[in-house]
Amino acid sequence: MLKIGSHVSFSDKGLVSAANEAASYGSTSFMIYTGAPQNTRRKPMETMNIEEGLKLMEQNGVSEIVVHAPYIVNLGSYKNHTYELGVSFLQEEIRRTHAIGTKQIVLHPGAFTDKDVEYGIERIAAGLTEVLSGVAETDVNIALETMAGKGTEVGRSFEEIARIIEKVPNNERLTICMDTCHIHDAGYDVAGDFDGVLKKFDDVIGLDRLAVMHINDSKNPVGAGKDRHTPIGSGWIGFDAIDKVVNHSSLSHLPFILETPWIGKDVKTQRPMYEIEIALLRGNVGERFGAGFAEDVEKLHAFFAKRDIDPRAFTLDVWSVLKNDAKAKKADPREPLERLYDLALEASVLPNASEEDLNKRLIAVLAGKEALARF
Ligand SMILES: [Zn+2]
Repeated sequence: MLKIGSHVSFSDKGLVSAANEAASYGSTSFMIYTGAPQNTRRKPMETMNIEEGLKLMEQNGVSEIVVHAPYIVNLGSYKNHTYELGVSFLQEEIRRTHAIGTKQIVLHPGAFTDKDVEYGIERIAAGLTEVLSGVAETDVNIALETMAGKGTEVGRSFEEIARIIEKVPNNERLTICMDTCHIHDAGYDVAGDFDGVLKKFDDVIGLDRLAVMHINDSKNPVGAGKDRHTPIGSGWIGFDAIDKVVNHSSLSHLPFILETPWIGKDVKTQRPMYEIEIALLRGNVGERFGAGFAEDVEKLHAFFAKRDIDPRAFTLDVWSVLKNDAKAKKADPREPLERLYDLALEASVLPNASEEDLNKRLIAVLAGKEALARF
């Protein structure tokens, strides 16, 4: 079965909260941070309800999950304090990951800041060597994430990651997390030639190292070097390309994790789109949302057709305008999904739908008419 889920919260009741949240989205996998992604404060693991959480996961058919290390770990830093904190904190994170029984911890390789990429590669490799030598009692792998190439990030190409791996003597515990938004932004043609991208990955790193997939659409065109995630279908990669990734025969053993942003006009009431994204990719929309859902989506398709709007083409047009026309952006900064939402709301296409409900149906619209056949 497809292992797919999203980033979920590990706070409050720890693994129990995470497992329950994941179940509410219809997930068969999920990803957690063991605490806030931005800092190193961590509650004792005894309070994280591991046993109860594992039982819940089993009941829900979740066999494999993923931990993500916090962003502040930077093994590429030339500052000794930052580097050493990164090494020791990552070792603690690996012990926590091991305690949960999870095999993969995702790590952003690091950033070279005021140095250069060569320095970054050397420093990260040294850091990983030190980290792994201190956690030999665990069987956790470090999954180096493919990065978009913003700022001074290392890992913007498969070659950079391969060079890090080469420089770590006992590198059998280094795996890879491939992020569709990041590699698209780094210049790999996920939308047009994913088979070619995988071939390249196999040649440079080796498919056997691929352990985790991050599934995100991108607000920017291929090669933009930006790293701005958007829900599946609402960005430059598009639903069809992501669907091809998730259902690719060479990747069927991997966990697929959504890190798409929550949607809504007011930041305080934004909601995740994970449930519909997962259902569209698993092909169980009817089971999750009921028969009326397809009718709603068909009404929206008919509404946009009547207005001569192709939602997918509209989405890419708006992204282009927002990117290339500062004056137009100032006059109307709304992103494509919000504009589609406003059009459908003004015309009362689905008068009884809440903001969240309408947005979920719009995500289904952006998956294209062909997706309806799989509901
Ligand atoms: Zn990441």
